[in-house]
Amino acid sequence: MAETNRQVHLASRPKGWVSEENFTLVEAAVPEPAEGQVLIRNHYASVDPYMRGGMNDVASYRQPFALNATMPGRTVGEVVASRLDGYREGDFVFAMTGWADYGLASDDGQLRRIDPAQAPISYHLGVLGMPGMTAYVGTYDLGEPKAGEQFYVSAAAGAVGQVAGQLARIRGCRVIGSAGGPEKIAWLTGELGFDGAFDHHAEDYTEALDRLMPDGIDVYFDNVGGAALDAVLARVNMNARLVECGMVSQYNLTTPDGIHNIANITRNRVRIQGFIVSDHADRLDAFLDEVSGYLRDGQMHYAEDVVDGLENTPAAFIGMLKGENTGKRVVKYV
Ligand code: NDP
Repeated sequence: MAETNRQVHLASRPKGWVSEENFTLVEAAVPEPAEGQVLIRNHYASVDPYMRGGMNDVASYRQPFALNATMPGRTVGEVVASRLDGYREGDFVFAMTGWADYGLASDDGQLRRIDPAQAPISYHLGVLGMPGMTAYVGTYDLGEPKAGEQFYVSAAAGAVGQVAGQLARIRGCRVIGSAGGPEKIAWLTGELGFDGAFDHHAEDYTEALDRLMPDGIDVYFDNVGGAALDAVLARVNMNARLVECGMVSQYNLTTPDGIHNIANITRNRVRIQGFIVSDHADRLDAFLDEVSGYLRDGQMHYAEDVVDGLENTPAAFIGMLKGENTGKRVVKYV
């Protein structure tokens, strides 16, 4: 075992765009597990858009992250010492130990064993984890897509978007996605089987949606907010459902974009529903059952975007917010 535990700390709170200067790399001793704890060697850490909100000193649906402490977050790794009944050295686990080489966890409702024979362990940070479940709950429970409906998803090549679009395709929708860059567009319309996709850097949302969705929009899975949401509101069909999953285009702005096209909400009886995935824990078994089935039988594809090295976690996080990633971005620690 290494002598030191490298940790990425939140050093300061960003105003506007987050930068690497908001983080510091700290070395500490590898901790000893107390009674009821396991010590985990983290193999992968997740970087997620919600973390940008946690860096602000604003209470939201979660508390702000503490300064001068390890950045919290989802991890998967291997138990290297255990004083917790039911867990042994060599077990692979999911936990919330954050951006560090090692972390302690107890039986707190988050820690759970994962089976490396079932799927690569990093999948529990993505398609078989929180982002996959977000896509499942948002698309199926809130979007209620029906065969033949027009379904649009933004940030379609990311962790949540790739799963949401494929779930809608599996239900028989006509699926259109947006993402940044021609490679992502080719992947969406190729391997993922989307009916169409556009590059939001190269084409305005209004023009692209007129071109690709001439029959309007029945379900919008919103990952970005801002101009995309405004363009959708001008093109919603009667009884459209807008699933407000997130607004990543707004997270680093000091002044949020305005939304103008709201008259159609009334006229077209539009339902706009925000949600937080952790409120839907009762859907976990159904989600895992259905999505792991689609992965097994090849109906669903999944891409990860892996960055190497704990010391690169801040850059990986910032890069994800800027759209570097195709697929779910994770950072490999071992
Ligand atoms: P992604 O893997 O999709 O990564 C973020 C992506 O956002 C980037 O790759 C980039 O893709 C896109 N993006 C960044 N800035 C902009 C911009 N200005 N305009 C358009 N797109 C932009 O992240 P996740 O899949 O993890 O998260 C997607 C959304 O889901 C986020 O809004 C997140 O907050 C939300 N979320 C909500 C949850 C809930 O419980 N409600 C739970 C989990 C996630 P590109 O350059 O290709 O457009």
